[in-house]
Amino acid sequence: MKVKRSTLVKNLDTVFSQYIRRKDAINEIAKCVTCGKEDHYKKMQCGHFMSRRHYSTRWQENNVGVQCYGCNITSQGQQFLFAKYLGLELAEEMVLKSKQTIKLTDSDLQDMINHYKEKLNSL
Ligand SMILES: [Zn+2]
Repeated sequence: MKVKRSTLVKNLDTVFSQYIRRKDAINEIAKCVTCGKEDHYKKMQCGHFMSRRHYSTRWQENNVGVQCYGCNITSQGQQFLFAKYLGLELAEEMVLKSKQTIKLTDSDLQDMINHYKEKLNSL
């Protein structure tokens, strides 16, 4: 049965976010990259420097970081502080990359889901 594209995108977002929040967590405690707040990774979010609407950087590890709800939602991502966290060079690279158009096939998305499932399992 063919999986709907929206389901693939949702599944990839979920597994990617899990991986980002857990990979640097110590005893399951993750730290917000823009304000330093620490909390259980399940209560933290995967924040994007360039918005998720840009598919070319949506699943780029260099474009994301752990954020608390306050920074990611209430403060709309704290983009300036996020750029400071990334460093100017990387921030500029992500800005340029976010403007590129990429074509991800359903099978590309499935490959990325599998890739991040494996990375999660090896943490
Ligand atoms: Zn924060």
